[in-house]
Amino acid sequence: SLIIMSKPIPIAVVGSGYVGLVAAVCFAEMGHPVICVDNDERKVAALRGGDTLIHEHYLPELLGRYRNDRVRFTTDLGEATRECDAIFIAVGTPQSETGDADLSYVEAVACEIARSLTSYKVIVEKSTVPVYTNEWISRALERNGVERHLFDVVSNPEFLREGTAVADFLHPDRIVVGADSERAGAILGDIYAPLTSGEYYQRADGIPGMCSVSEPPPLLMTSTKSAEIIKHASNAFLALKISFINAVSNLCEATNANVEQVARGMGLDSRIGPKFLRPGIGYGGSCFPKDVAAFRSVADQLGIDFNLLSEVEKINVQQKRRFVSKVRSALWNLRGKRLAVLGLAFKGDTDDIRESPAIEIVHMLLNEGCSIAAFDPAAIERTRQVLPEGNNLRYATDAYNACADADALLILTDWTEFSELDLRQINQSLRYPIIIDGRNLYDPAVMSDHGFTYLSVGRPAVH
Ligand code: NAD
Repeated sequence: SLIIMSKPIPIAVVGSGYVGLVAAVCFAEMGHPVICVDNDERKVAALRGGDTLIHEHYLPELLGRYRNDRVRFTTDLGEATRECDAIFIAVGTPQSETGDADLSYVEAVACEIARSLTSYKVIVEKSTVPVYTNEWISRALERNGVERHLFDVVSNPEFLREGTAVADFLHPDRIVVGADSERAGAILGDIYAPLTSGEYYQRADGIPGMCSVSEPPPLLMTSTKSAEIIKHASNAFLALKISFINAVSNLCEATNANVEQVARGMGLDSRIGPKFLRPGIGYGGSCFPKDVAAFRSVADQLGIDFNLLSEVEKINVQQKRRFVSKVRSALWNLRGKRLAVLGLAFKGDTDDIRESPAIEIVHMLLNEGCSIAAFDPAAIERTRQVLPEGNNLRYATDAYNACADADALLILTDWTEFSELDLRQINQSLRYPIIIDGRNLYDPAVMSDHGFTYLSVGRPAVH
């Protein structure tokens, strides 16, 4: 079939974290030359040397292919600004003390861009930002002396998930471009053309092992403000789905019903859908908690009653406390109990521990006087920075080592390898055969056969 090659567009990506780095190597994979900027010199040096710094499938491979060639790394935003047509801002937008998004990094980048901007550029919000941020970026540029006709600000929110970031970026459900200028919208259209035209999916040199067939993703063109709201509304809705099923799981526990059956029955309704109906210990990560809070804060500032979001947050906090109560219900007193903990990352397949409910629960249990041996396949090093090893906390070398002589095993992160444990060996390692599973990784009947007391979320306990 005829393959239409799309034209390469020089791109700058500012911020080389989970989003910026993945976007940079994926834009290169799509055929564009990329300059990746970060103000963290050590990060830039590591990336130049081929160290990905984060745990993501396919990232080492893509970084290996393109680093110091089609993707260059620099701390010099001025140089990057001069050499590209589009500048993607992918710096952090953390939660501030008041709950709303701290946009000071975005502002700093906008002001720095202004200093070197002499010809037309599209400035792209890739970071998750509240509605109206595009106007603030424009204002910052103008206040720093840039004429209005020299730039446009567009919103291109990112929907990738950590753990599957590269695959999500190259095979997205949709691409959203919020642009109030035709010129800027067209440039974004060209950047994504390799995906939206399907050209990328026909190439023979794609990444082995990633989805081989893919329908080209739809490109949704919206106003800038709509795109900003799409991102916050999407994340808030996903968090709502999680809190909803968590609340339902509590109801199931109270009635001895089974939330898995309930979720299946709900999910088969195509209006509801089966995804994100898995109960657990609450959502976490660097996005959902801060984005729900930021969206709530946006509503507050606009005088709109969106208390539904506060309820979503409340259920999420309660879910972690409920888990600790469940541990207590299985072990009686917590003081002095030795616990094996599997999982520190906020979800499986990532080393990210930001707002991890697993770590919060570890904190609560340590405060209750438990001693903990914890294992995670990727997140131990990061956890060590916030929770150093000490009298009551030790990091284990594997799951079985964590279980050695423990009074119970807690499963806190949904790593696949935690669902494939050698149950016989676990049973032998533990002092008492008690498992409290915050992620529903096992079939209660199987656990019963193996002689475990098994408590999970929203499903009848087995003793
Ligand atoms: P991150 O903390 O991993 O990376 C941010 C990077 O920006 C860091 O490397 C930091 O050094 C750099 N930076 C900060 N200030 C800078 C400056 N002035 N100049 C150059 N570099 C600077 O963050 P992340 O997880 O990649 O998230 C970035 C944005 O994307 C956030 O708004 C987040 O909400 C959004 N987002 C994240 C995800 C995700 O799964 N992590 C998904 C979708 C959207």
